[in-house]
Amino acid sequence: MYDFIIIGGGILGMSTAMQLQQVYPDRRMLVLEKEAGPARHQTGHNSGVIHAGVYYTPGSLKARFCLEGNRATKAFCDEHAIPYDSCGKLLVATNEVEMERMRALWVRTEANGLEREWLEAEALHEREPNITGLGAIFVPSSGIVDYARVTQAMADEFQRLGGTIRYDHQVRALEERRQEVVVTTSCETFSTRYLISCAGLMADRMIRMLGKKPGFTICPFRGEYFRLGERHNQIVNHLIYPIPDPSMPFLGVHLTRMIDGSVTVGPNAVLALAREGYRKTHVSAPDVAGMLTHPGILKVLWRHLKPGMREMKNSLSRRGYLDEVRKYCPSLSVEDLEPYPAGVRAQAVSRDGKLIDDFLFVNTARTVNVGNAPSPAATSALPIGAHIVEKVKSLVEK
Ligand SMILES: Cc1cc2nc3c(=O)[nH]c(=O)nc-3n(C[C@H](O)[C@H](O)[C@H](O)COP(=O)(O)OP(=O)(O)OC[C@H]3O[C@@H](n4cnc5c(N)ncnc54)[C@H](O)[C@@H]3O)c2cc1C
Repeated sequence: MYDFIIIGGGILGMSTAMQLQQVYPDRRMLVLEKEAGPARHQTGHNSGVIHAGVYYTPGSLKARFCLEGNRATKAFCDEHAIPYDSCGKLLVATNEVEMERMRALWVRTEANGLEREWLEAEALHEREPNITGLGAIFVPSSGIVDYARVTQAMADEFQRLGGTIRYDHQVRALEERRQEVVVTTSCETFSTRYLISCAGLMADRMIRMLGKKPGFTICPFRGEYFRLGERHNQIVNHLIYPIPDPSMPFLGVHLTRMIDGSVTVGPNAVLALAREGYRKTHVSAPDVAGMLTHPGILKVLWRHLKPGMREMKNSLSRRGYLDEVRKYCPSLSVEDLEPYPAGVRAQAVSRDGKLIDDFLFVNTARTVNVGNAPSPAATSALPIGAHIVEKVKSLVEK
């Protein structure tokens, strides 16, 4: 019998496992991951940005954990000799509507306690000669890192402290009893006093396996990227983001300097036809059926029909995609866009058709389940892990 089993070898599972083993050094712990190694889904297919906490509703878990996570991620990297770059980020306004939104964002960044600088057009041009805009907000604490590497370091630390990881173990069934939780995998069956699930794109399915109704479903949104040719590696000095539409802050492709020196463009957000659908042609009949019969997802698609169609069109046309970037980086051409692997975001959607914005956790007597952990959950992984440890402690001490 294990004391704790953690499902999921992404950054949240590994962060939680590492911190739980630090708090309970003598307890038996096991991480179960269905893939052959860590960080094979969202954690290994993201932009690698250490977010500062610009957009999030003041007082939300996202705002709090992102701010804490920004510092904690950098400190963890320092401790484990993982390279990162605090290159800073520019949010660029390209028209009057965006200037108006930029003023609102300026107020929000103050409420979120961020250090930032207001740049007029000339100051923006001085900092970024290849970027055009009416003005920008500069946020110095944003940075870049390789989250797969951070996750591997957490996994190593967990094992060093005595924890066990089993890869290629897909959890297929869960049964919560009075004194234990029985976990059946593709390889063997385990028993544990407490269970934590950090299953990303499968989050709702874990809760259903426990016999509970999650109250939401995961909707997969693919984020497609391009990489700029090597000759463009110096095209920007910072991360370049458009000013977002506040009703859809996750839309808007950005230019990201990656930690390997390359520059990516993206991601967009298109409905994926499979939860792990990394290619346009990847369709899972059960996943599609699940989406088409969920009233919440249908409402979301209907409500966001116009931007959804635009994202889809730009996904099929490089020129359309490029036009989004050329608004602030006019020198780029279609030939500059080289292929780069996509990621798929796990976004929880409520039955009444809302995109759940904040991080969400669902507890039962012996389990803690991450329900919604979209961006900036990689940045926030250390405080989210600490938060889960506190939740587990309260179950143990009950
Ligand atoms: C395109 C994109 C860009 C992003 N950019 C950023 C960014 O720049 N900065 C940032 O902070 N965040 C970003 N994010 C968000 C961030 O990557 C995720 O929020 C974070 O990685 C979530 O981590 P996780 O551990 O919950 O999920 P995951 O990394 O998806 O891990 C979940 C794990 O659970 C495993 N699993 C699922 N079901 C089972 C089962 N039945 N049995 C065993 N194992 C199972 C999966 O195999 C997987 O390894 C981005 C996300 C995407 C997709």
